[in-house]
Amino acid sequence: MAVPPAAAVAVLPGVTAARLPLASLQLNDTIVAVSTPAGRGGLGVLRLSGPAAAAIAGAMVKLRSPLRSWKVSLGDLLVDEVLVDEVLVSYFQAPRSYTGEDVVEISCHGSPVVLQYALDLAASKGARLAEPGEFTLRAFLRGRIDLPRAEAVHDLIESTTLYQARVAAQQLQGSVSRRLQPVKDHLLELIALLEAGIDFAEDDISVASGPQILARLDPIRESLTRLVASYQYGGLVRSGFSLAVVGRPNVGKSSLFNRLLRQDRAIVTDIPGTTRDLVAETADFAGIPVRLVDTAGLRETGETIERLGIERSYQAMADADLTLVVLDLSRPRTPEDEALLARAREQGRYLVAANKSDLPALWPAGDAIPVSAQSGAGVDQLRQRAIEVLAPAAGLAPDDGLITSSRQFNHLRKSLEAIEKTRLAVAAAVPHEFVLVDLYDALQPLDNLTGSTTADDILNRIFSTFCIGK
Ligand code: GDP
Repeated sequence: MAVPPAAAVAVLPGVTAARLPLASLQLNDTIVAVSTPAGRGGLGVLRLSGPAAAAIAGAMVKLRSPLRSWKVSLGDLLVDEVLVDEVLVSYFQAPRSYTGEDVVEISCHGSPVVLQYALDLAASKGARLAEPGEFTLRAFLRGRIDLPRAEAVHDLIESTTLYQARVAAQQLQGSVSRRLQPVKDHLLELIALLEAGIDFAEDDISVASGPQILARLDPIRESLTRLVASYQYGGLVRSGFSLAVVGRPNVGKSSLFNRLLRQDRAIVTDIPGTTRDLVAETADFAGIPVRLVDTAGLRETGETIERLGIERSYQAMADADLTLVVLDLSRPRTPEDEALLARAREQGRYLVAANKSDLPALWPAGDAIPVSAQSGAGVDQLRQRAIEVLAPAAGLAPDDGLITSSRQFNHLRKSLEAIEKTRLAVAAAVPHEFVLVDLYDALQPLDNLTGSTTADDILNRIFSTFCIGK
């Protein structure tokens, strides 16, 4: 039986003809963009990449010393022979550069007009304005980085907590690819073994036995299972989650909200039911961004505004990834509390905080987490428990090869499914030709994941989420 050969050759890194022509993009011209954010700043950096990068920079700036790779030259940016800015020009000769091409970075002072002038000047000297993400795309197409690393560049730039940045930085160092490579190697060895068995079957060369194949599948399956499982936590790290804080009036929701946020935001009052609108803020729970939604006091009531608030609270509970039910430990439990708990239980994932633990308790906290919004006691435990409820495998280290992207997760899951199919096929003693088909099915998603074989439209989708200049 014929086995698709493309998957077998495409695991080698490097530029293959198959993945080069991204419909509208050329690789042989020189691109330019301002790589620093819009607006004024101490510095603004223009980046050029491509074969003419150094020549264009030389034509734009009157250099005081010639460009040398990995060195910085001082230069003058002129308008009609008159100085507008003194700039620093860094040159990175191919292939030792971000994109793998000749790269020049011109550091100007961060004035939007100066930067716009420099950009126009670069264009007039032959550079093309870069598409969003094109620098990183070129780095990928030139084989400098694989797809998980390119995605990590995006995540690093977009990170909102230092922990997210650490995870992305690990991925940028190749933590995902490092985990994946042995899996691919094992798969390829097994494929080679079975292919050889088929080629030489007539020469009486012994083919691998069922138990031998299964034994070789085990480490592959284990590694894939671990990576797939890491996504539950990794996805949380990348995307964060939303937490609706609910409770009847005066139990201390707003106070707890502020504690969780570590800053004063929602208004704290002694009059029940005053927090009528939803207040949303993003907090940092052990490095995971959490969108906190403070809800109006939940109470069965006829008052229109408050009822609206309650409806919104129920809606917030339905929308949130997790609900935090706040109870008052210093007051008797009420039917409203119980109704709220029942609602939360019905909705799914929830957590109960027994607030005002600094006051004498009127009921045993039991499963609820005792906290005091006033003193801050128990609040760290609450943050930790919130993460644990959503991701039981929480606490994996950033360098454990965390899978954070849903794209990568889906490929890994497909690969694992194919491995499971392979195991069944081997157990059923089907001919090796068919076992091989399943093995190639397991390999293909891994190639898609790293980008060694990836369709242009997928690449376009990934890189179009980047901003210009990245
Ligand atoms: P909300 O209506 O549920 O948002 O409750 P608030 O946050 O406005 O708090 C209601 C009252 O309870 C305020 O007087 C707070 O100072 C007080 N309070 C909140 N948390 C605590 C706590 O942990 N201990 C004590 N002793 N009082 C608290």
